[in-house]
Amino acid sequence: MSSTWHILGAGSLGSLWACRLAQAGKAVRLVLRDPQRLQAYQRAGGLTLVHNGQAQRHAIPAETADASTPIHRLLVACKAYDAPKAVARLAPRLVHNAELILLQNGLGSQDDVANQVPHARCVFASSTEGAFREADWQVNFAGHGFNWLGDPANPVPPDWLDDLADAAIPHQWTPDILTRLWRKLALNCAINPLTVLHDCRNGGLAEHHCEVATLCAELAELLHCCGQPQAAEGLQQEVERVIHATAANYSSMYQDVLHGRRTEIHYLLGHACRVASRHGRPQAHLERLYRRLVEHLNARGLPSD
Ligand code: NAP
Repeated sequence: MSSTWHILGAGSLGSLWACRLAQAGKAVRLVLRDPQRLQAYQRAGGLTLVHNGQAQRHAIPAETADASTPIHRLLVACKAYDAPKAVARLAPRLVHNAELILLQNGLGSQDDVANQVPHARCVFASSTEGAFREADWQVNFAGHGFNWLGDPANPVPPDWLDDLADAAIPHQWTPDILTRLWRKLALNCAINPLTVLHDCRNGGLAEHHCEVATLCAELAELLHCCGQPQAAEGLQQEVERVIHATAANYSSMYQDVLHGRRTEIHYLLGHACRVASRHGRPQAHLERLYRRLVEHLNARGLPSD
């Protein structure tokens, strides 16, 4: 098995992983969107990672999806709404038993990706690390966090976890990755849409205690319904803890809307509402929140899918 890390999407998180793996001496190749992006990358001379005020450039080789070398291991670092199509383009290059690591937030896109590549192993990730793009090909490592990794179809850990340890990428393999992803999704649903609709920092939600509590109760019911009771445990307390601990922050969805960027709503609140309906248990307040958010996005000319 080739040990090269192909990285699809050199945005915030993809660049953060690529630079750390390259720095640890691992073979890394970026897969960029199209020949124009490849040319722009080549002109920049590599990816720059800024950490603690120090910038370091890494001249990581790059290609487009049209290259012909086989892919054994692929880190998918696109947004959830781009991932299935981007992976479909690479499907002919994936060897039998190729492994994909899916970094997407929310739920739904992982299954869409897996359906594109039935012969590959798909490892799901839930990341609390924070990175943002300062400019094209330049990423700032903002928030230390953690990466949970797991494969709902196979509890055996892959052998490349050693590469992550060598690259000081904090991680742990878990058989309960879906529980982690559902819990993160529920926290997001209880906080992010309300910060957009109330135009406030996370801490501003302390004034909307009842609304938050109602959403948490519905989210907990949904989690029980879809076989994730552990993800429901102490949900409201954790939501309140996060609101308090991150009171001065603007949520990621708030920032996306502020900057006119497409959100991942379809894979967060949208997914929660779809699953609730599928179980014949639509949740009135979640549904209403979703409708208000879609209207809010559409009024700003932003997609809601
Ligand atoms: P991002 O900065 O927008 O990067 C996404 C990258 O994907 C962009 O560079 C984009 O290319 C590229 N891309 C899209 N379609 C492509 C294609 N067909 N071929 C090649 N590249 C393609 O997004 P991000 O913030 O890294 O987020 C990625 C995922 O990680 C999201 O699901 C997010 O929720 C999750 N996440 C992010 C963070 C974080 O701190 N950033 C933390 C936890 C989880 P262009 O540059 O050409 O547009």
